[in-house]
Order: sequence, then C-alpha cells, then structure tokens
Amino acid sequence: MSSVQSLIDLDTAGGRAKPRPTLRIPNCIPCLEGNEEAYVAEAVHNGDLAVGPHIARFERAIADYAGATHAVAVANGTAALHLALLAVGVAPGDLVLMPTLTFAATANAVKYCGADPVFFDVDPVSWSIDVGQLRAYLEGDCVRRNGQLVARDEGRRIAAILPVDLYGHPTDMDALTDIAREFALAVVEDGAEALGARYKGKSLGSYAEVCCLSFNGNKIITGGNGGMVVTNDETLAKRVRYLSAQAKDDAVEFVHGAVGYNYRMPNVNAALALAQSEHLARFVARKRAFVARYDAAFAKIEGVSMWREAPWAESSHWMAIVTVDEKRHPNAINGLRKDLPTKGIEARPVWLPLHRQKPFAHSKSMSCDVAERIYRTGLCLPCSAGLTEQELDFCAQAVVSFFEEQEA
Ligand SMILES: *Cc1c(COP(=O)(O)O)cnc(C)c1O
Repeated sequence: MSSVQSLIDLDTAGGRAKPRPTLRIPNCIPCLEGNEEAYVAEAVHNGDLAVGPHIARFERAIADYAGATHAVAVANGTAALHLALLAVGVAPGDLVLMPTLTFAATANAVKYCGADPVFFDVDPVSWSIDVGQLRAYLEGDCVRRNGQLVARDEGRRIAAILPVDLYGHPTDMDALTDIAREFALAVVEDGAEALGARYKGKSLGSYAEVCCLSFNGNKIITGGNGGMVVTNDETLAKRVRYLSAQAKDDAVEFVHGAVGYNYRMPNVNAALALAQSEHLARFVARKRAFVARYDAAFAKIEGVSMWREAPWAESSHWMAIVTVDEKRHPNAINGLRKDLPTKGIEARPVWLPLHRQKPFAHSKSMSCDVAERIYRTGLCLPCSAGLTEQELDFCAQAVVSFFEEQEA
C-alpha cells in the first residue's frame, strides 16, 4: 500500500538510516477555516490586544450557544475551575469530591484553593463520577457538625462536588444534583472537554450551578488558550469576574478588596476563539459523525467498539475513543498504542487516573476499578474537526487490520 509507505520517513541522523514514522494524522488539532485571521487582524490593527470588544462578543456567543445567562472569559480552563471553586466558597483545608479519571488540571485547581481532592471511581456508562459511590461515602463516612458536613476521619469540611464531563460525555446531573441538594453541597462542573454536549436535550452550560470551559489548543474550539465560567447566577458571575482581574474595587485608584488573580482572557485570544465559535455546531456534528463511522467500521471485530453514550446523553466527542473487551483481547490497547504510530496515526492514551499520580498520592481515594479498567481498555483515535473521511477510514482500517493480524 503506497499510502502507508509514504508515511514512513528515513531518519538519517546519527549516520544509520532507520525507518522512522512521521505522525501524519494527529490526534486532535484545531480546524481554522473561518474568520480567525480576520478577527485577529482586526484586534491587532486596532491595538486591542489585552482588552477589547472581542471578549464581550465571545462571552455572548458562548452564553447564547450554551443557554446560560452569564459567561466570564478567563485565561484558561484551569483558571476557570480555580475561580469557580473559590466563588462557591472552597477554602483552605476543605475537601472537594471528584472523579479520579480526568486531566490533572481538575485536581490542580482544587489544590490552588488550599483544598484537597477526594477521588471517586467513574460510572461505567457515562465515565463521570460514580454517584452510588459518592452517596455511600457521604452517608457512611461524613457527619454533620456545627452545621457543616465533615469527613468523619479527619474532621475536614466537604466543600463541593466537582464532576467532569469526560471526553465530551455529560454527567448525569439530575442524579448528582439530588445528592448535592440533600447534603447541601455546591457543584462545580468541569465541562472543559464537553462544550457542545447535551444532557436530556439541554445544552451543557445551561443546567449546572456553574460550568467551566476550556479553549486550550486541542479543545473543541480554541483561542490558543482560554477558558470560561458560565452560570445563571449573577452574583457568582460577578465574583468570578472580580477575582479574575485582581479584585479591583476602584480601577482608577487601584483599590483592591481581596487577593485577586491575573486571569483575564486577552482580547486577541478572544478574537480567535470568537471566530472558532461560529463553527462550533458544525465541529460537534462532524465529530459525532466520525465516531459513528469508526463504530460502523469496528462492527466486524468482536469485542471492539467505540465508547457508546448513555441514552440521555449527546456527547460532543472531544475525543473518539475505541474500547476493547479485555477478556477477548487481553493487553490489546498496549499493542495498538505501539502499532498505530508506525502507520502515521497519533493515538493518545486515556487519562492516567489521578489517584495513581505523584502530586495526589496522599489524597484520599475510593476503590477505582472502573477507571483503572477504562485506562487499560480505551484509546483516543484521531478526531480533529478538519479530518477528512478518507483519513478517518485510513485510521479505522489500521485498527481493523491490527485486530485481524492478532486473530491470524
Ligand atoms: C483541558 C482541561 C482542563 C484545563 O483547561 P486548560 O484550558 O488547559 O487550562 C480542565 N479539565 C479538563 C477535564 C480538561 O480536559
């Protein structure tokens, strides 16, 4: 197959030629086909670099798309999480309940508040926090003391629940909200990977107390960097905006009412992200179609399929994840991870669960068997919004061939 051979370059560095595959189909890169250059040029032309009109336009675009009343653009998704956690009252010494299967940024934001994460397993369908395990912990391991919910062992206050809409799949927020109400806990949603998802027909960002988004370079839309806090709570939105700009009570006299942060989104980044937002619905539709096309291609291999969404969910499919039945194909994901790059295809592992990582080794963790299994049996396949069907079919065929060769 010449198309495969053309993906192999010769690496002559060091004198000895050896075949070195060059990654030709990246995992997830931005699709820049719209007004990106025009809006950035406009911002530069007008000198609107840090502050400017694109910020408010971008905030409105996302608030309208998500169906939320308030949106505050910030420097990145991690900053969005940090500010949202502070705004709901997370304080030093507190505990925040979150899933172990997520990007480190989710737990880092908890640490920035001086709080500590408590790690929970994920639900085998939604891959979001296991609500049953959460309830068992709250009922069995926590007590109410002086009007506060505290962990029985350490006496530390439980401040909030931090669910993550993993890889674009929404959390079962009704079930989670029931628990949060019952135990009077705040909920901060990490929707960094899920802009464009729908839960029971409602857009992500419209139904949670507060939802945090990311516009990092490989997220569904990007400003190069960027993040946003969306909420229907005006007081909370005001607090986030205040803290994001050094907590100025008087911008002329430089009077500050709190320790603030330099977390604003620069206008040039907002210009880029605004242009991207004009194609958001199309990007999500394309990614959803890609996942369906991969899934159809894998129908002929027993024990291999794409991760399928819950009946109440519409995932934004930030990542397209193939999963294998490990009884049928033991250790296949490791093999596939090594094989795909030799064909010029960049695959990424699923997040390494955080309870197994050094910075969080001392944090409390429940047993996280489902997260561990997902880590062993899932792999993120290429799914950039600009991927062609031909490229996608090439990737799908590479996966099919890998399993056919295993069987042979
Ligand atoms: C990307 C991401 C973040 C952080 O966003 P940045 O914009 O990169 O700071 C937070 N949580 C999750 C789950 C993410 O994937």
